[in-house]
Amino acid sequence: MQMESAGDDGLSPRKVAYLKFLRERGNAARTGEIAERFSVDPSTVTRTVRELAAAGLVFHQPYGRVTLTEKGVACADFLVWRHRVLGLVLSHYGLAGEEACREAERFEAYVSAGAVRRICASLGHPTRGICGAICHDALCGADREGENF
Ligand SMILES: [Zn+2]
Ligand SMILES: [Zn+2]
Repeated sequence: MQMESAGDDGLSPRKVAYLKFLRERGNAARTGEIAERFSVDPSTVTRTVRELAAAGLVFHQPYGRVTLTEKGVACADFLVWRHRVLGLVLSHYGLAGEEACREAERFEAYVSAGAVRRICASLGHPTRGICGAICHDALCGADREGENF
């Protein structure tokens, strides 16, 4: 199934997946590693990486090395936070660990940051997601204490 229309944040599910992968890998990977991880053609990766670079989210360096920019790191942290909050919600409604992760990945790109922030607050800002820690500092920030919306 192809789902390349952009989500609420203007990032397609494929771009979301690449940014999260780079963050997990210590902010850098080679296009070949990305291609292998997602079982896609390296030329597909290169095209997507070029778009991410144009958006200022990654540096595309010689020899296929892809590195997150500062903006890319902040974006990836947001994406990981959104994924883990939404995955946790699914795990509360009958889906087991990996399944919840997988299902969240199918729709997370379409959920707005404001909605995730409210969901996160309603869950009491949980610190543990299904696939790792949930960090709230930069993301839930001002909304953590009083609910202003
Ligand atoms: Zn997950
Ligand atoms: Zn939170």
